Amino acid sequence: SRIPRIVILGAGYGGIVTAIRLQKELNYNEADVTLVNKHDYHYITTHLHMPAAGTDNPENARVDISKLIDEFKIDFVKGTVLQIKPQERKVVLEESTLSYDYLVVGLGGEPETFGIPGLREYAMNIRSINSVRLIREHIEYQFAKFKREPSRTDYLTFIVGGAGFTGIEFVGELADRIPELCKEFDVDPGLVKIYNIEAAPSALPGFDPELVEYGMKVLADKGVTFKIATAIKECTPDGVVLATGEVIKSSTVVWTGGIRGNHMLEEAGFETMRGRIKVDEHLRAPGHDNIYIVGDCSIVMNPEGRPYPPTAQIATQQGEVCANNLVASIRNAPLKEFKFSNKGVVASLGKGEAIGIVGSRKIKGGSAALMKKLVDMRYLYTIGGIPLVLKKGRF
Ligand code: FAD
Repeated sequence: SRIPRIVILGAGYGGIVTAIRLQKELNYNEADVTLVNKHDYHYITTHLHMPAAGTDNPENARVDISKLIDEFKIDFVKGTVLQIKPQERKVVLEESTLSYDYLVVGLGGEPETFGIPGLREYAMNIRSINSVRLIREHIEYQFAKFKREPSRTDYLTFIVGGAGFTGIEFVGELADRIPELCKEFDVDPGLVKIYNIEAAPSALPGFDPELVEYGMKVLADKGVTFKIATAIKECTPDGVVLATGEVIKSSTVVWTGGIRGNHMLEEAGFETMRGRIKVDEHLRAPGHDNIYIVGDCSIVMNPEGRPYPPTAQIATQQGEVCANNLVASIRNAPLKEFKFSNKGVVASLGKGEAIGIVGSRKIKGGSAALMKKLVDMRYLYTIGGIPLVLKKGRF
């Protein structure tokens, strides 16, 4: 009989781990595996706040896919997916069409703007190597522009919408970068303003209040002004308008306020919540035994019936189970249930500072920053072994 075809869309955390596990588990000629990704590199999304602020080089946040997979076992196709056709078991790419027997969707998330006018048009997002290059260059350019128009102090105002993990990690790095930029451009640091604006009643909603308070204090001491429980009503080319009526002038708005699933899922006719598919216990799309959804495109409920937040941690664990279940399907063996095992959460606050919960322990300061590095290195080890840890680890 014909060899089953597995197509994996996206080489993010979920997709790349699925591919790496499959190449280990599958026997010769048991399946044809194709991995499709927009770029020929995987990006370490959890590092992107650093190159976005300019405290690290974007090069350090990416890894060539050819270094992670064995191209004798997996076909890599560099291409952009345009459409998923579940009825025809096909996916349409910009330059070709692929048919599959089993599909894995790991295309990641897209910014959720909650319909706030102007965010889509005028705000930047931290989501890929290219997007963080833009943010970094844009920030430097504001300093250069200010030198030519010293009355325009608004060029030195930086707005970050959203105080979730991404927003908090980014303002921490940005606050570290500002003194360097001020030195480089001969700018009085007193003129620079960083605002972190959050609509929810607290920064890092749902996180331990004592750690949140500590984190906000660290960031405030570095020069970040928080506006919590304050919604952005509109984003314009000149800044933001808040629900309170206040207007903050700025030509730099970075939106980290939320993400939703990839738009192609909704377009393909799947039932979605904020663009994500609530998967069954084996990580499949309901009603589609041959379609697995991993990472930010999926929703998994916790035992209390609420969705787990989309993280690299859950995406990686899903990749392992997804690969296991693909192999089991091909071999007509029973599928495994996915159970998320929370290894802890650590948020960086810039150089040498972080907050986190590991097991039931709260950690903060230098020890949390060290833990953050260990978590990152463990991931690098999972996908690329020791050589990748040495090459990309941020020691
Ligand atoms: P992603 O990693 O989003 O990757 C999707 C892939 O699909 C990409 O390679 C992309 O190029 C590709 N793709 C997208 N569209 C197409 C298309 N049309 N055609 C072809 N390819 C396409 N999580 C944690 O657990 N811990 C952290 O400390 C943490 N820190 C974070 C810090 C920042 C700054 C950010 C932005 C996120 C952080 N996260 C963290 C969240 C985590 O990064 C995401 O949950 C995770 O990346 C989701 O993985 P994924 O598998 O869904 O896909």
